[in-house]
Amino acid sequence: MELTNISVIKDLFERHGFSFTKSLGQNFLINPAVCPKIAELGGAKPGVCALEIGTGVGVLTKELAERCDKVIAVEIDTSLKPILEETLADYDNVEIVFADVMETDLAALLAEKAGGMETVVCANLPYYITSPVIMRVLESRLPISAMTVMVQKEAADRICAKPGTRDCGAISCAVSYYSEPKLLFKVGRGSFMPSPNVDSAVIRLDVKPAADIPAEEERLLFRIIRASFSQRRKQVANPLSGELHISKAELSALMEGFGIKPTARAEELTLEDFGRLTKAVINSR
Ligand code: SAM
Repeated sequence: MELTNISVIKDLFERHGFSFTKSLGQNFLINPAVCPKIAELGGAKPGVCALEIGTGVGVLTKELAERCDKVIAVEIDTSLKPILEETLADYDNVEIVFADVMETDLAALLAEKAGGMETVVCANLPYYITSPVIMRVLESRLPISAMTVMVQKEAADRICAKPGTRDCGAISCAVSYYSEPKLLFKVGRGSFMPSPNVDSAVIRLDVKPAADIPAEEERLLFRIIRASFSQRRKQVANPLSGELHISKAELSALMEGFGIKPTARAEELTLEDFGRLTKAVINSR
């Protein structure tokens, strides 16, 4: 069944009485070149388990099922169930869990179903929860090697932004703490049904081994990153002084102590700078 063919999809929808739920970010891929590329570049291959978030009618699920030993998918919309039973009938290596990914214990799900296989996440993410899903997967330290996801082009630019660039923000720092992000390719809005108002891009996050940092230090690091970018046009010493209850003079001295000019703004700092600042704050207490 050609799941990128508009007449095939419309027929499926009609027969199963399905209609799009805009609030669930349901923009289904209809460009036949995109899903095979996501699967290939995402590391789908024999011996690998793929975790998909949001199946739609199963267009990417099918490509993953053809390449991987196992596919575990989480989909919130139960009205897609009869459609998926039909579109994925030929694949006995796919297991779909109908649940909200934000409420699902993904670590427990993989422990139960992935059978210890190398696991990759591949998905065309619903846009309304792109960053929360990415951070949930990364923060829960799932045993995955990579996460390859389609997101809005602007989100892709922010997530993959290098320090010191205009797009760099708290999300780029947070993502690069856990992984090495790379923008793979862009996808125009015409590749979806219905067509969204924005273009998209596929990014791949290669997960780094867990850093050996105490939990308290990690929490402080993320507090410092969030506070620093909350007023990105200001020198970081300003928002941090309020957040950490440390005087601006003391913060400036801490920054100078490891070679950062005290007038620096958040986007001028690297993740390593934030890490050093966090340690300096802890040592000063
Ligand atoms: N993979 C399909 C494709 O590429 O055509 C569908 C992608 S569509 C952008 C996003 C999918 O995520 C939809 O099927 C939607 O129902 C599902 N979804 C939305 N919110 C979700 C959530 N909180 N948990 C799990 N799935 C969700």
